[in-house]
Amino acid sequence: MKKFLFTVLAAAVSTSVAFSAYSATLTNTETTVTKEIINTPRHTDDKTVMLLLSSSGYKDTGYLTHAKDYINDFLAENKLQDSEIVFIPFAGVRTTYDEYESKVQNALSNPKIKSIHHFSNMKDAINQAKVIMVGGGNSFELLNQMYKNDLVQAISKRVKNGDAIYIGWSAGSNLAGKTIKTTNDMPIVEPESLASLNLFPYQINPHFISGKIPGHNGESREERLEEYLIVNKEDKIYCLPEGAMIKYQNGHFTIIGLSDALLMTYPANFEKLPQNQVY
Ligand code: ASP
Repeated sequence: MKKFLFTVLAAAVSTSVAFSAYSATLTNTETTVTKEIINTPRHTDDKTVMLLLSSSGYKDTGYLTHAKDYINDFLAENKLQDSEIVFIPFAGVRTTYDEYESKVQNALSNPKIKSIHHFSNMKDAINQAKVIMVGGGNSFELLNQMYKNDLVQAISKRVKNGDAIYIGWSAGSNLAGKTIKTTNDMPIVEPESLASLNLFPYQINPHFISGKIPGHNGESREERLEEYLIVNKEDKIYCLPEGAMIKYQNGHFTIIGLSDALLMTYPANFEKLPQNQVY
């Protein structure tokens, strides 16, 4: 079994902070894992169509700047470029929902984005939505509000049936996964459950960054995720460095955007997932 230094991966994922060389030797299960993903039987009735972004920013390019063309292309591919978009702002803690809505409307130059807090019946809004967009922030508060407003099943069902497409970034991408247990956020509230939409039936780690800042003695991201895998050995974590995106349709997905992604499996195996291949 081939081994390689994790520094190779660390160099492949661009970061704006200078990190010390992280030279733990990890086992690479590269080709076998990829074949396993592709050969995993998928539900032919999976009508989920999603775009999951790691982050709302890329380096210092500005809020959603790197994402705008990808989001607009994704809407156009699904012939929904003129559709109203129902926006979920619940992850926003340091902003009001109104401010969050305007920020996203301005960044994407799209006045048809309407935050769900304006609807008198949120569930009806979801049941009529063609595009559901979920912004980043705190994943626990996002899921907490989703449960409080009884929207988890409604969104999951609507997207799985192919009645709405889903766009999320950061916490919004965590929400699309199986659970939010591999978020980077602090549990500032206690949602009814950590189970999330399960549209993407695996774990996601957005804003993935490798290694440690010199002098920092807390766990690295790899160590935190390794802990998750030690107690959830069968699971797969898709790590999205800044700029990486998952485009999911027909029960399969590709990585697009400005970075490759990484698949992490037990105990701490990393496989690089290059862009534009079908997984
Ligand atoms: N707080 C992040 C965001 O939504 C989510 C995460 O890091 O897990 O931007």
